[in-house]
Amino acid sequence: MKKTGWLLWLLFSGTALFAQSLQKPKLVIGVVVDQMRWDYLYRYEARYSAGGFRRLLREGFSCENTFIPYTPTNTAPGHTCVYTGSVPSLHGIAGNSWYSRQLGRHVYCTEDSTVQTVGNLSVAGKMTSGNMWASTSAAGKMSPRNMWASTITDELRLSNNMRGKTIGIALKDRGAILPAGHTANAAYWYDNGSAGFISSTYYMQELPQWVKNFNNRKLVDQYMSQPWKPLYPLNTYVQSTSDDKAYEGALFGEDNTFDHRTDMLTSAKYEAFRTTPYGNIYTIEMAKAAIEGEALGADSTTDFLTVSFSSPDYIGHTFGPNSIEVEDNYLRLDRDLAQFLQYLDAKVGKGAYLLFLTADHGVAHVPGFAEEMHVPAGTSSEALLRKNLNEGLQKEFGAANMILTLTNYQVFLNNDTLAKKGISRQAVKEAVIRLLLQEQAIAKAFDLENIAAAALPERIKTMVVNGYNQKLSGDVQFLFKPQWFEGGKTGTTHGVWNPYDAHIPLLWFGWKIKPGRLNRETYMTDIAPTVAALLQIQMPNAAIGNAITEVTTGAVQAQSPAAKR
Ligand SMILES: [Zn+2]
Repeated sequence: MKKTGWLLWLLFSGTALFAQSLQKPKLVIGVVVDQMRWDYLYRYEARYSAGGFRRLLREGFSCENTFIPYTPTNTAPGHTCVYTGSVPSLHGIAGNSWYSRQLGRHVYCTEDSTVQTVGNLSVAGKMTSGNMWASTSAAGKMSPRNMWASTITDELRLSNNMRGKTIGIALKDRGAILPAGHTANAAYWYDNGSAGFISSTYYMQELPQWVKNFNNRKLVDQYMSQPWKPLYPLNTYVQSTSDDKAYEGALFGEDNTFDHRTDMLTSAKYEAFRTTPYGNIYTIEMAKAAIEGEALGADSTTDFLTVSFSSPDYIGHTFGPNSIEVEDNYLRLDRDLAQFLQYLDAKVGKGAYLLFLTADHGVAHVPGFAEEMHVPAGTSSEALLRKNLNEGLQKEFGAANMILTLTNYQVFLNNDTLAKKGISRQAVKEAVIRLLLQEQAIAKAFDLENIAAAALPERIKTMVVNGYNQKLSGDVQFLFKPQWFEGGKTGTTHGVWNPYDAHIPLLWFGWKIKPGRLNRETYMTDIAPTVAALLQIQMPNAAIGNAITEVTTGAVQAQSPAAKR
């Protein structure tokens, strides 16, 4: 009797003490919303629920002026920067893809020919002999090996002698692989062929049973059996233009207006799934399955779960930030997040997990919409610029194909041709800059090898230097005018220095975080050092950011209007 009483006392006092002063969080959850602009926190706020973004703003700490400190502002460098605290100049992920002079071709950020797909079911979803899933797809030939730096997820694993676990989840391979780092137990990404999550032999030889069970639930078929209807009557989406606009893209085999008949799609249904808000809840379901399947946050050794929501990016590219589709996506994501936070409270415990939410980049308005509003805007294409450059250079120097390629708004000279013909690189670079400046789309062009001399505002110069990788970048960089980008007549994109691409949300929530709001400027590179400081572990090995110390003291600036509701 006495013994039981003592045990009970120990149990209860222990639990109470635990919740009050956990030495470490049981779980860290890094959330990236692909393409979420900072202003979406407030633009759609009136119809956000109490438990989603508003809860993060009310109970958490918001860094209101967080910027990406480099170009190109794309998905792979973005996820890498969040988790390494570093920039393309140092971490080696110079774009979603980049041109390798060594290989003479473009390289995809997470490609790895030495590994195989694990778990692809696309061979009619059948099991092959034994208990192995057929692995025929190239979608799984991926790993983090092209990333030069360690991630905060690596540093956490190294800090506890690999006793904690790291799992990365996203529809996009790069959104799952780069955050989870080199030492991850696993990264899982979505495969169009099998409408399920796959991985690669970098991590494992076979999917764990819990992933097979998850894939066998056939959730994508369930989601895609219903049309995507707006949550509210269309005329109540006052933050968006009317539904039918010629400058909006269309879903695969569908059109640009509600209801989106995803249930009627016959071809590319599983690929089109990415461009629906169901991709978000599907990602959350997979995250929950991972927490349960891997017992994440179940003991006192800190685990790390990285979650990236890819669908907002696909939807944003197709329909643009002023579309009902984007507004509806964020209202739904908000509800999904509320549900996920409730789940984490119940499963891991309130205050026992640390969560941050940010974005890998923002997005520009659709040029057609901007023009409709009399905002100067336009598009051009790197193919066209390359053609014009090659023609201009041939006239001047008498040699054909002097430009190898244009990528990430950079020009790569054909060094072999120049050497063979004895043409000066310096003279060609000067001619390239002169020719580029004749293009309507282009505002600035400069020599990347001599960037200190470029007449650029300091802020932009810093971003270009941080993005410039001497081994992977081109020779001449050009900047388009604001609201101009490489693209076509419909939809939109991101990738440049401008605030619409570079200003991202950054919210902290849970373990050790005090409610508050910070208006001083912070950077994407500060996220990993802040997590390192909170966890009292080593910073990633190429980190150049600073810990945001205010997150544990809170209330730096007046609370946001949302916090008062
Ligand atoms: Zn994108």
